[in-house]
Formats: sequence, C-alpha cells, structure tokens
Amino acid sequence: MGRCNVCFRHCEIGDGKVGFCGARTCEDGTVKALNYGRVSSIALDPVEKKPLARFCPGSYVLSVGSFGCNLRCPFCQNNEISWSDEAFE
Ligand code: SF4
Repeated sequence: MGRCNVCFRHCEIGDGKVGFCGARTCEDGTVKALNYGRVSSIALDPVEKKPLARFCPGSYVLSVGSFGCNLRCPFCQNNEISWSDEAFE
C-alpha cells in the first residue's frame, strides 16, 4: 500500500488498485501514474474557443488530454472521458 500526495485527497492505494482519480496505482508500495503518455482526447479547435482573448485570432489550437480527475462534477463537459474504467471498480 502507498499514499499518493499529488492532490488534497491523499489516497491510500493498495497494490494493484487505483486512487479516487483512477490515474494513480500502487506497485510494491510505490505510487505510479497510469495515464502517463496515454491520450483519451485530442482535438484541433479554433483558438476563439479557448480563454485567450485576442491571441492569434483566426488560428487553431491543439488540445490533448488524458484520463484522471479528482472531482466528480456531473455537469462537466468531459464527464465521460475523464476517468479510467478502473476508477469505478
Ligand atoms: S485522487 Fe489521484 S492524484 Fe489525488 S491523491 Fe488520489 S490518487 Fe493521488
């Protein structure tokens, strides 16, 4: 078992289990990231969709994200892609 101190939840994670976010696991007492290098969403969007006032108008921005969230907000636009399946076991 290991304790993750990445965020305020300070999860105690048993070997082979995942923390609340579903992005951290524990192997032999060491907490490790499960989502490193794993992409769950990628999108090319007009820069105007981002909170960047008057930054390169008319250009595009690439958004890349992975899974793992320490919240459970039902109204989140990423509700269906923000957790791994393991987060619900
Ligand atoms: S929710 Fe995730 S990042 Fe936060 S303490 Fe738990 S395992 Fe670590």
